[in-house]
Amino acid sequence: MNFDLTDEQKMLVSAVGKFVKNESNVERFRKARTTAAVWDKAVWKKMGDNGWMGVAFSEADGGFGGSFVDAALILEQFGRGLVPEPYIASVILGGEAIASAGTKEQKEKFLAPMIEGATSLALAYAENQSRYNLNDCLTKAEKSGSGWKITGEKRWVLNGHAADQIVVAARTSGGQFDADGLSLFIVDGNAAGLERTAVSGMDGHKTGWLKLKGVEVGADRLLGGAGKALSVLERLVDRAAAAACAESQGCLQELFERTVLYLKQREQFGRPIGSFQVLQHRAADMFAQVELCKSMMILAAIKADETDETERKEQISAAKAYLTEGGWVVQKQAIQLHGGIGITDEQDAGLFFKRVRVLQGLFGDADHHISRFSKLASFERSLKSA
Ligand SMILES: Cc1cc2nc3c(=O)[nH]c(=O)nc-3n(C[C@H](O)[C@H](O)[C@H](O)COP(=O)(O)OP(=O)(O)OC[C@H]3O[C@@H](n4cnc5c(N)ncnc54)[C@H](O)[C@@H]3O)c2cc1C
Repeated sequence: MNFDLTDEQKMLVSAVGKFVKNESNVERFRKARTTAAVWDKAVWKKMGDNGWMGVAFSEADGGFGGSFVDAALILEQFGRGLVPEPYIASVILGGEAIASAGTKEQKEKFLAPMIEGATSLALAYAENQSRYNLNDCLTKAEKSGSGWKITGEKRWVLNGHAADQIVVAARTSGGQFDADGLSLFIVDGNAAGLERTAVSGMDGHKTGWLKLKGVEVGADRLLGGAGKALSVLERLVDRAAAAACAESQGCLQELFERTVLYLKQREQFGRPIGSFQVLQHRAADMFAQVELCKSMMILAAIKADETDETERKEQISAAKAYLTEGGWVVQKQAIQLHGGIGITDEQDAGLFFKRVRVLQGLFGDADHHISRFSKLASFERSLKSA
């Protein structure tokens, strides 16, 4: 398999890397943490003008016809500067929901302005009781006139506190755990009956907790066929898991590089602590894990566009589980090698640590993905042939 970047991808990485270094580094994130939304609409517009939201959407949908790998490369660079703009929430989740299930009119009305950076999107699928079960849904949508009335509560909605439009999963039929009967609706962020609460996470980002108290939407806001949304949701959340691996990769790379720099600069007993072999071994362990995470992240990004569902699930689950396994080695060593300052808020290492910790849990933690991987057909086959 050829992992070399194309010339276009190299240019994209270079452009996003420059932006992160000059305009959206960790210092910008520190200040953004104190603002209401934690991200900035003017910066989002600039990203839209640069074409970064459209890279992976088809030209027919207003994008540039690239691949998921292109989006992953952007996210990896964003991870290096803790860029707070809602790329995963708006592009990978909300945007892809509309691109994959929407009508031409819905794409023109809701996807196109997001690609331009004029609006942002979100996807509300998780509920208090649902953990990582996408089919566990109590939110209901009932027929109301020519449209629908939605009632229920959603949790941990990335960008749910700020999005202009929110794609909401709701039951149009069936019981709480049924595979059939799930539908997606595009709900306006200012809709009557929608209550949004911004909740802060350990990484300094905010998510939305939503209450939908009989929110009325027109028939034109049903996304895709009624009752058939589960496979769409599974694909979206898988892609978001691959995206989490990509953003984490940038954070882990920074944790590694910044730790090596610290070992070279910090002096004890008249010499840099990095001159001690035991600390060099620890840095070597970090390097190996960063490289392994990178390989898994690239494979997951390639498989995010895979049409074979089992193949996609298998590789993305493997990568997501490895993000915890390998990522944890890098995180722990980074904190310990920095000594006590590593856990303080003034030191950047702790901020990267916390962002990776959150990304490890989003879209399925390691336990969830190991469990899913073990139930997939190819794992069963490999056990039989062993
Ligand atoms: C709020 C807070 C609570 C803490 N609580 C505890 C606690 O309960 N228990 C506890 O044990 N510590 C605790 N610590 C950590 C402890 O106080 C020191 O921070 C820690 O021992 C590292 O020392 P340092 O900060 O001077 O790091 P540095 O001297 O910069 O060292 C950085 C790294 O290099 C290693 N190192 C330094 N010199 C050498 C050498 N000559 N040879 C090999 N390796 C070397 C250090 O062990 C460390 O891993 C706490 C720190 C904070 C901030």
